[in-house]
Amino acid sequence: MNFNEIKNLDEEYGAKTFARYPVAFAGGKNATLVDTAGKEYIDFGAGIAVNVFGANDEEWKNAVKAQLDKIQHVSNYYYSEPQAELARLLCEKSGAKRAFFANSGAEANECAFKTARKYSFEKYGETRKRIVSLKNSFHGRTLFTLTATGQDEFHRYFAPFVPEMTSVPADIKAVERAADSKACAVVIECVQGESGVTALDSSFVRELAAYCKENDVLLICDEVQSGIGRTGKFFAYEHYGIVPDLVTSAKGLGGGLPIGACLFYSKTENVLTAGDHGSTFGGNPVVCAGACNVVGRLNEEFLFEVAGKAEYLRAKLRLIDGVKAVTGLGMMIGLELDKPPKEVARACLDKGLLVLTAHKRLRIVPPLTITKTEMDEGLAILRGVLEK
Ligand SMILES: *Cc1c(COP(=O)(O)O)cnc(C)c1O
Repeated sequence: MNFNEIKNLDEEYGAKTFARYPVAFAGGKNATLVDTAGKEYIDFGAGIAVNVFGANDEEWKNAVKAQLDKIQHVSNYYYSEPQAELARLLCEKSGAKRAFFANSGAEANECAFKTARKYSFEKYGETRKRIVSLKNSFHGRTLFTLTATGQDEFHRYFAPFVPEMTSVPADIKAVERAADSKACAVVIECVQGESGVTALDSSFVRELAAYCKENDVLLICDEVQSGIGRTGKFFAYEHYGIVPDLVTSAKGLGGGLPIGACLFYSKTENVLTAGDHGSTFGGNPVVCAGACNVVGRLNEEFLFEVAGKAEYLRAKLRLIDGVKAVTGLGMMIGLELDKPPKEVARACLDKGLLVLTAHKRLRIVPPLTITKTEMDEGLAILRGVLEK
């Protein structure tokens, strides 16, 4: 099919949930994608921080194909080597004790929220059901995670929401007032992604961790976007010197295949037991084989390189006229511009560069394996668009 045939088909039969850019991709290598007409693009979006090794990474593909040729799906009634191996790898990298596998970030958060409510129910009965989240957060599109999402624009039409949830500014006094001995958990994104790529203030995060510890309120780090090497650490919370009670992961974890994970640390490792939670597809062996390749390759040396590339990109971005601020952490980059970000993203697309937007900012989250040549090509296009 050529592009117009694909577009017409999608517009006739696909749900109208996405305002799509006028392009369809047919292939690519690392951070260089090719569309159906053969035009090349530098990829500063990685499928929304998903494709950590870019397109067509041979080692990752071989890991997936090898598992695909063995067994494709098994029910969670049975044991599975790739799933058990992935749980081990994640725990060894993070200090978590156990892992539950789902299929998306929203589902990973559902699992964390349910775990928090059960933890509290068993210890305190019916009195502490509240989950406190932050303003400008994003935790997913299911009703539980949408309720936690602290951005009103996502809430239109869908009331009534899940009770005993509230979102407050990133201020310790505000959290304390909202928790008010009725909370079982506080959920944060150390770097808020969808609302504009904003790293939380480190003294707030440390105060919050201390408050949670003192009051036996579980601290949940939603690392769906910020995790898996994105900020130059395996998880972004490591920059803050804290240890959470629950961590959720998704986007980059599968290297391009759908997976979510909820990681349980020492306080929460035994909360969920047989029958409390589950998933038909969660922990699928083919997906887990890909994720094992991702997690296995994110060693110190790889992360050090990511941090170096992030420094390079950030330094170059600061020099571009029209860039008012460079936000975020590592390779999770927000740009404050003097032009509307959607218009800039569209102009970049025409010139062969894929960038994302996040609320009022431009968002740059390239494959972690992006080369210096690819970064320079992308920077040149962005400079051309912004300095015009
Ligand atoms: C993308 C995202 C989610 C939702 O993930 P899905 O896989 O789309 O359900 C949740 N939390 C954060 C921080 C995200 O960036």
